[in-house]
Amino acid sequence: MQDTISRLRDAKMTNILRVQSAALKAIHDYMYERGVVQAMPVILSPETDPLNHPHFDASVEYYGQRLHLTKSMILHKQLSLLNGGFDKVYVMSPNVRLEEGSLGGTGRHLFEFTQVDIELKGRSKEDFMELVDGMVARVFSFVKKECEEDLAALDRKLRVPATPLKVFESEDLRDRYGDDFEARASRELEDPFWVTNFRREFYDKEDKKRRGYYHNYDVFWPEGFGEALSGGEREWEYAEIVRKMTERKTDLRGYKTYLEMARQGLIPSTVGGGMGIERMVRYLTGQKHVKDVALFPRVPGENIAF
Ligand code: ASP
Ligand code: MG
Repeated sequence: MQDTISRLRDAKMTNILRVQSAALKAIHDYMYERGVVQAMPVILSPETDPLNHPHFDASVEYYGQRLHLTKSMILHKQLSLLNGGFDKVYVMSPNVRLEEGSLGGTGRHLFEFTQVDIELKGRSKEDFMELVDGMVARVFSFVKKECEEDLAALDRKLRVPATPLKVFESEDLRDRYGDDFEARASRELEDPFWVTNFRREFYDKEDKKRRGYYHNYDVFWPEGFGEALSGGEREWEYAEIVRKMTERKTDLRGYKTYLEMARQGLIPSTVGGGMGIERMVRYLTGQKHVKDVALFPRVPGENIAF
């Protein structure tokens, strides 16, 4: 309990929360100006992101229906764009991912976190990158101007990144840095950067003519802070979705409505991604672990005090 009390009373937490408030204001203002409408988060759903890595189940039975805590709102973001009146949407989306305890020490993982999750209809990955570059530049310049005293108290010198952020192919970085390229590039590069083409969840678009090439990407924070955002252009064709779910051994029975919508050709062609808020604040404030910016942290493998 002592730990919880000192965390709640820590003066540093005031500076961190002020930086976080400024960052969130900058994001909301920017989205509003760019015509991206805000949707409310979904917390429980019969269908959620399968996540393509080992984790524990987080679901409850409610009146005969199995409901999952949201691992990401990817499927809901896609379907929200069925509405013809808007073509850009974002959500401040809480996610629960019961990760394995081995991720407790990465400095980047919480099993409960919030991401700003964005999706655009009828646009390309270049359009999405341009939107996110603008968001990052806006957040950093606003925080730098607004939170001078907080940053000084945290002994953090913040660099407003030059945009457009650099874009690298994952294969090129692998050639240059080896298999550990994410961590090494993050340590060596000065500004946040994009990396494209990762094999992961079924919903990220795979090139039909060039199998094994994915139109997806991550953003990485520099100074070794690592992954900031994941996203991609999306699959929307039924046959592709089923093929990729099967390849990834995803149980199709968990995706009844989504698959039926896809079968009817209703999934719009979209592009998007989600940026972790706590990871962003960790980088802005220069903290060692993402738990250091959370009032009530949920670290993989650790008991929760409160
Ligand atoms: N939000 C991400 C996306 O849009 C998925 C994730 O959260 O990992 O692709
Ligand atoms: Mg990711």
